[in-house]
Amino acid sequence: MNKERFQNIKRMRLVVIALSVILVVSGFRLIQENSVTIDKREIKNGVALYASNTNYYPVTIELDADLTNMTSSEKNPLITVLKGRSEEKIAELKVKDPKSSWGMKYSYIFYQGSIFAKHNDKMGYRLPFKIGEKHRLDQGYNGNFSHSGESRYSLDFNMEEGTEIYSSRAGIVVETEESYSKGGSDKSFLDKANYVTILHDDGTFAQYSHLRKNGVTVRIGQKVKVGERIGYSGATGYVTGPHLHFTVLKAKKGGGFISIPVKFATKDGIITLKEKETYTAY
Ligand SMILES: [Zn+2]
Repeated sequence: MNKERFQNIKRMRLVVIALSVILVVSGFRLIQENSVTIDKREIKNGVALYASNTNYYPVTIELDADLTNMTSSEKNPLITVLKGRSEEKIAELKVKDPKSSWGMKYSYIFYQGSIFAKHNDKMGYRLPFKIGEKHRLDQGYNGNFSHSGESRYSLDFNMEEGTEIYSSRAGIVVETEESYSKGGSDKSFLDKANYVTILHDDGTFAQYSHLRKNGVTVRIGQKVKVGERIGYSGATGYVTGPHLHFTVLKAKKGGGFISIPVKFATKDGIITLKEKETYTAY
């Protein structure tokens, strides 16, 4: 490759749009703009694009390239998923006719989670508290107070502050928050909940929210089995009283999440939990 031409590539404009994702009730932190990057590296007759992700969770990247006298090894636009803490070659762009001028421009967005995740519906989740303890489900799926729209498949277990919380399913801890101390029914508390977010092997996430201040006992990057203690309940964020908000999430195309219904293992088998019923961890 002619050196001057490669210099041209380096001068090409790179547009990065970091998409902000705000979740109601519980959340992920906003993704850091510099946590996902794309680098160009010279290869024979062209350029390879490498993407890297410093987050513990996977990200979906949508890349749109504007090519002049070049071909891409991938579909354009390209939609691809990058695993947590990984770097990968995502495309090779080759010059078609080296005697003519060529170039490229590209833009991309990225957001949390894999849009290709497919929830394992056979999974029987463990109730997220101590074996033998029982708690009432104050708000179930499609609950009137706050379980609507994209968070409609959420569960609120009534419990006193300081109740031990256990993982309902194995995974890797990808985010935690434990710095908040207050909660209430004012909307200003929406983004002030403490929580633990765990990535499952099928690419979905579980979130355990409203934990008490300093109430997280796991760290980001830690692998957890089902039934490990992960923290202590509380009443931080948007709440009317102490409880545990539990939800399983899957990434949506374009950014954001959708909650998905899951079943729990109880002494009566693997069932969908019902509002106002009391359940014993099993
Ligand atoms: Zn809730």
